[in-house]
Amino acid sequence: MNTKEKDLKYIMHTYGRYDVALQSGKGATAFDEDGKRYIDVSSGIGVNSLGYCDEGWVKAVTAQAGTIQHMSNYFYSKQPSDLAEKLCTLTGMAKVCFGNSGAEANECAIKIARKYSFDKYGAGRNEIITLKNSFHGRTVTTLAATGQDVFHNFFFPFTEGFKYAEADNIDDVKNNIDEKTCAVLIEVVQGEGGVNILDKSFVQSVAKICDKQDILLIIDEVQTGVGRTGKLFAHEHYGVKPDLMTVAKGLGGGLPIGVCLCGEKLKDVMSPSTHGTTFGANPVVCAGANYVLDTIANEEFLNEVERKGAYLEEKLREIKEVKNVRRLGLMVGIEIDGNAHDIAVKCVENGLLIITAKDLLRMLPPLTITKDELDEAVTILEKTLKEITI
Ligand SMILES: *Cc1c(COP(=O)(O)O)cnc(C)c1O
Repeated sequence: MNTKEKDLKYIMHTYGRYDVALQSGKGATAFDEDGKRYIDVSSGIGVNSLGYCDEGWVKAVTAQAGTIQHMSNYFYSKQPSDLAEKLCTLTGMAKVCFGNSGAEANECAIKIARKYSFDKYGAGRNEIITLKNSFHGRTVTTLAATGQDVFHNFFFPFTEGFKYAEADNIDDVKNNIDEKTCAVLIEVVQGEGGVNILDKSFVQSVAKICDKQDILLIIDEVQTGVGRTGKLFAHEHYGVKPDLMTVAKGLGGGLPIGVCLCGEKLKDVMSPSTHGTTFGANPVVCAGANYVLDTIANEEFLNEVERKGAYLEEKLREIKEVKNVRRLGLMVGIEIDGNAHDIAVKCVENGLLIITAKDLLRMLPPLTITKDELDEAVTILEKTLKEITI
């Protein structure tokens, strides 16, 4: 059996895959098992922030793997300590909790928010308001936190205590707040929901309301974080400061990590044995994340992300079949006529690895993508859109 046949026989079909078995890559260029070449503007859903097999990242990860690969959270360890310090220094947050995925990071934030409220106000103040069209993960609780009906199926009963308000509708948020509310959880750019960039005034109003009533503001930066939007974290565009922030996808540069960061007033909420995960803070993963942050967290790199994003947007807008572009940094949603999934499949056939979000095409290229690779991506997309319209 070849790769595809084994996959179809032995792996549960929780994903509809493109008909490609990727084998290797460098930068934003990938090769399949037949040696066919692709430009990749998906970066493993915003994960390979430095592209495929960045030299420095590979060195950092392999050096750590050859030194000590895991030791459990019962011991101190340099890589996670360094990473925690970096994250706190760069964000002004106080402490971090390590996990392995975005959903886990959100679970951690939800637990901290509820425990803070429980400790301070007693039982019952435990509801969390999230936004319609949001996405927060695939565990039973983060599905419940996700404000989309399609995700609230099959796995009943879901975790209680979530209410959904309309994005950019501050009255709807206010109407959902009552004495039971302990937190508001938002993405400032809804990624899976269709690259929906929230209004600045809305986000600032939410922050103000939260602050006044000791309701915790949780910002899910799982997709938007680590340079994706041209700032280290997307909430910096909005001039707000979250009480809790979750980071995952791009942080590890291709290895699984999820981090929940909290501000000063929450730093002692979690005590021994209130949370944990065996693989959290793994030193190999953290060595990769340290390298990613060292590379990305500087003005020059982040300005370059915005410059590339602006260039990409300009090129995309020149394509007749592109109706609109929603973009913050290198987080790009492309509005087109026609079925986004079918178009994406054709793009892949034509050598462009692209993803979708709702009825949009979506690009989350590696932040290190070159101008030539961007040009090639746009050329393939344009050619594909023309083929489909004919
Ligand atoms: C991908 C994503 C998650 C879930 O992350 P996993 O690592 O897949 O668990 C949560 N929130 C947002 C905004 C995401 O984009």
